Amino acid sequence: MCKQLKSWIDEKGKAWEEVEETCDRCGGAGFHIGNGWEHYNGSACFKCDGKKYIRTNRRILTDKEKQYKETARLKRETKAKETEFADRMKRIERMNSDDKKSVGFVTDTIYIILDENSFDIKEELKLQGARWNNSFRSWIFLEGNENIEKYITKRVNYLEVADICLSYEGDTVERVSFEYATLCEYVENAKRELLGDTEYIGTIADKIEIKITLENVFSYDTQYGTMRISIFKDEKGNFLKWNSKTTLDLEIGEVAIIKGTIKAHEEYGTTKQKQTVLTRVKMIG
Ligand SMILES: [Zn+2]
Repeated sequence: MCKQLKSWIDEKGKAWEEVEETCDRCGGAGFHIGNGWEHYNGSACFKCDGKKYIRTNRRILTDKEKQYKETARLKRETKAKETEFADRMKRIERMNSDDKKSVGFVTDTIYIILDENSFDIKEELKLQGARWNNSFRSWIFLEGNENIEKYITKRVNYLEVADICLSYEGDTVERVSFEYATLCEYVENAKRELLGDTEYIGTIADKIEIKITLENVFSYDTQYGTMRISIFKDEKGNFLKWNSKTTLDLEIGEVAIIKGTIKAHEEYGTTKQKQTVLTRVKMIG
């Protein structure tokens, strides 16, 4: 209930009105019960003195002022929403980061050590900067460790093993979480793949053309400069290795057709992975 009693223009030319409104303290009842002030002035409402209504003077806004007020209100509302949204995004990012770290992704990509004897050489691994990862139940290297190429490793980016979903409708930041079972399974698959029936390709001194996927690139320093080992995999899952000062213009996981000369057939590491060593490698498609 809101009733105008009178209106006037002040000396600055602004319009005012006096209105009578339902008391906002007692809701128009005129009294309070249970507020502890009953002993004072009976139980009459403190604000309206029991009259149920209150009188106030207020500005009569021009259309322009109303519009200005509304614009300001919307601006405040938008700002508040934006702040809330940004806070939520920050919170999700923090949760993602914590969850990534808790399963070992201190760097976005880690290298899981698949060597069968990693338990026996754990002291050595520790010295090389490897750390035990309880989620993968394996020793791992963080990206950037210079000893990665000394062991049989599986490169894994957190995106390959994470469960990713939008945490709220309309959010742009995705919630990244991990299932313990998925991580264990990942290692088992990697080991199975490693021990799988890999074969040597071709005969030594053969020139071959072959479709490959770039699996990994390692670098190491020698007295002649930095050398790089590229590991490829053919369509049957067989491994090829190329030792060179350069690398192909390929991203890890990218497919290409290469040509090269077979230099050697080598068993690698404790799992005796069969690797076909190439030389004079060029990308032809
Ligand atoms: Zn009242």
